[in-house]
Amino acid sequence: MSDDKTIREPARNLSVAAQYDVVVAGGGIAGAAAAVAAARRGVSVCLLEKESALGGLATLGNVTVWLPICDGMGHQVVGGIGEEMLRLSVRDLEQDNREARFAKVPACWEPGGDFEHRKKTRFRVNFNPGSYLLALEEWLQEAGVSLWYDTRLCAVRRQGEHLTHAIVENKSGRLAVAGKFFLDTTGDADLCHLAGEQTETLDSNVVCSWFYYVLDGRLHLQPFSNPYSPQMTRAGGVGPFFRGDDGEQVSQMILGSRELLRRQWRRIQQQHPDSEVQPFAPPTIACFRATRRLVGRFSLARQHRHQWFEDTVALTGDWRRCGPVYAIPWRALCGVRNRNLAVAGRCFSVDTSIWDCTRAIPTCAVTGEAVGAGAALATIVGATDLPDLPVGRLQQDLRDHDGILDPRRVTKADSQPD
Ligand SMILES: Cc1cc2nc3c(=O)[nH]c(=O)nc-3n(C[C@H](O)[C@H](O)[C@H](O)COP(=O)(O)OP(=O)(O)OC[C@H]3O[C@@H](n4cnc5c(N)ncnc54)[C@H](O)[C@@H]3O)c2cc1C
Repeated sequence: MSDDKTIREPARNLSVAAQYDVVVAGGGIAGAAAAVAAARRGVSVCLLEKESALGGLATLGNVTVWLPICDGMGHQVVGGIGEEMLRLSVRDLEQDNREARFAKVPACWEPGGDFEHRKKTRFRVNFNPGSYLLALEEWLQEAGVSLWYDTRLCAVRRQGEHLTHAIVENKSGRLAVAGKFFLDTTGDADLCHLAGEQTETLDSNVVCSWFYYVLDGRLHLQPFSNPYSPQMTRAGGVGPFFRGDDGEQVSQMILGSRELLRRQWRRIQQQHPDSEVQPFAPPTIACFRATRRLVGRFSLARQHRHQWFEDTVALTGDWRRCGPVYAIPWRALCGVRNRNLAVAGRCFSVDTSIWDCTRAIPTCAVTGEAVGAGAALATIVGATDLPDLPVGRLQQDLRDHDGILDPRRVTKADSQPD
């Protein structure tokens, strides 16, 4: 039955366009890491991305700071694909550029670098989003990932406690993609939401625009955002506030951010009345910090810093201060209602107290690698349920691929006060 408030869409048959061992939804940092980790282990992988490029916020949002992969006390805490992706982001950079804020790997973090310097210099870089976008695409193709651009995940098909198909839409229409394992790296937990997982949404996002401008022929980066609360609540932030799981609010947030950009650009023009100032490469994706996340069996929280878990599959530092290290357990990455679903990136299961830390690029990469490796291992051993995966074997596999899974790195060292 239809009325003027609702319409009924007729049921239709969908063609199953392809079948993969691992279906990754979302091609940001987490999705790229997950897809490469799985493909390198010899399983078939596709990556569904609604935009026409990889990198998500990091590239299309101009978020050009690869935050630290160390603990701020001289120890590296993210290795493996995380470090590889950090180095890839500045691979084509010949030299630092202060105005455009491009910065290569600090010398002390090159092999054999000085530990005393490492204690004072964090292991981070500032990349050029354009060259990173190109490098990421090449990197995924070399790993053998099937890239499905301009393809939005719209629905899922479930059977019992397992997902069987991702339903997507692209220029060919509405299609089904069959898979054994499904990884949600949409940043917004779209796959979890569609698959009936419990999720939580924040409505405390503020307008923001990181954009480049050209001043007298030289490139400059202008990072700009309304102040937000590091607790990810409205308190202390400067509205208007937006949630990222509401179509109308997404458009309002984008429009507000562009208005902010125009104001910033005009301000820069006024500061340089005798120069030519041109905006360059504005963000082309909605720049939400924290939207919707999985509520898993376990949610990582601030109180878990320096705590090792038996099922730890990733470590991460705190970009905001030196000292704290968090171990991320497999339980925080697995779906609850769907036993072949895992989540990585800014939408895995955390609580609000720590979200501002775990949404950063290093954590997205290291959780992406963990779920990609986990899904590949499950395929290889013929498992069907990710929560029951022999995690000891996954941990060993991650270590064999240069992952840093060392309980001693998590132990409390001297930290800066909170
Ligand atoms: C203003 C701002 C400044 C920031 N500054 C920094 C910083 O300096 N350093 C730092 O480390 N982090 C920073 N962050 C955070 C960081 O950039 C992101 O949290 C991180 O890049 C998220 O990576 P991700 O892969 O989890 O998600 P995303 O980057 O959001 O990627 C998700 C991908 O999935 C795609 N997708 C979404 N839904 C669907 C769907 N239904 N179907 C198909 N594809 C879909 C998207 O198009 C996107 O490509 C900042 C964030 C913001 C907003």
